[in-house]
Amino acid sequence: MKMNSILKCNSCKVSVTNLTGLVRFTCPSCSEKEIVRCSHCREIAARYKCDNCGFSGPN
Ligand SMILES: [Zn+2]
Ligand SMILES: [Zn+2]
Repeated sequence: MKMNSILKCNSCKVSVTNLTGLVRFTCPSCSEKEIVRCSHCREIAARYKCDNCGFSGPN
C-alpha cells in the first residue's frame, strides 16, 4: 500500500505535505525507495535512512 498523499520528512518525521523547500528523491543506493526531506533537515544535514535497503547519508 502506497501512501503518497502523506509525506513525512525521513529525518525528523514531520509532515512536509504543506511545507516549501522539501525535497524528494529516490534512494541513491537501491533506487526503489523515495526519500523525503524537509528544508530544515537539508540545512543541518540531518541523516536520513532508507528503510528499504538501510542506506543512510547526508545527501
Ligand atoms: Zn526534517
Ligand atoms: Zn534504499
